[in-house]
Amino acid sequence: MKVLRSISALRDYRKQLAGSVGLVLTMGFLHEGHLSLVRRSKAECEYTFVSIFVNPTQFGPDEDFGAYPRDTNRDLKLLENTGADAVFLPGAGEMYPPGADTVVVPGKTAHRLEGAARPGHFRGVATVVLKLFNLIQPQRAYFGQKDAQQAAVIRKMVADLDVPVEIAVMPTVREGDGLAMSSRNTYLNPAEREAATVLYRSLKLAEELINGGERDAEIVRQRMTELISAEPLAHIDYVSVADAGSLDELAFVIRPALVSLAVRIGRTRLIDNVTLT
Ligand code: AMP
Repeated sequence: MKVLRSISALRDYRKQLAGSVGLVLTMGFLHEGHLSLVRRSKAECEYTFVSIFVNPTQFGPDEDFGAYPRDTNRDLKLLENTGADAVFLPGAGEMYPPGADTVVVPGKTAHRLEGAARPGHFRGVATVVLKLFNLIQPQRAYFGQKDAQQAAVIRKMVADLDVPVEIAVMPTVREGDGLAMSSRNTYLNPAEREAATVLYRSLKLAEELINGGERDAEIVRQRMTELISAEPLAHIDYVSVADAGSLDELAFVIRPALVSLAVRIGRTRLIDNVTLT
């Protein structure tokens, strides 16, 4: 497995590759969710690149950029064992040299949900993703459904800016009790870890209600809110039942719907979602 730490090393290596390249973008501290994307890329592409970069521009000033978990040696071993061909591990100075002054500003897809809760987040995401696409030039890039809005923003960017890459979105990988795998789960103490199951339980409740015929989206949001509010360690950022395409909040449930939520468990902010097709 090739480990590339600079843009010049990356470009030299990339030039030599003739076959199809799949790309998995990550912020490291890898888990089975990330590795499922690597495996899918390996199954579909001749070469699989993984990037590990904790991107400062997608964190707000009061967010956890400094505390975000990092363990590069462990990540590299996991990627080697999974069979990635190359890992791009740039430093922040490599990605944002002094004077860098151009950004990608996503449109409406980025305004709601995570975009409303985290101003500037998707501008940081879209900018770094476009840079990584330009550097690595993959034919396919793999994203997780766990970050459904991120995948939607990237799909729209690629379509609007004619970026020659195919976007694949893979299912959310969960722990045995339903908690979506996330690097941030490592912040949770045992009581918080237990409380964190409330996210998945509330998504399951929404699924049951809607599959049982409930069509009033506000009732679904209310029932989810009640369930989460009964958990003393949980504080809701948002609970959403939205059109899966536009991300507009629904009054009446039509499909495909994206049921999503952001909840703080203690000081840890977690997100999750299900799509009802
Ligand atoms: P992150 O390192 O959290 O920025 O995630 C990198 C990529 O892995 C993104 O496309 C995420 O959507 C995806 N991902 C993160 N967690 C999961 C999960 N539990 N299941 C599937 N994909 C995931």
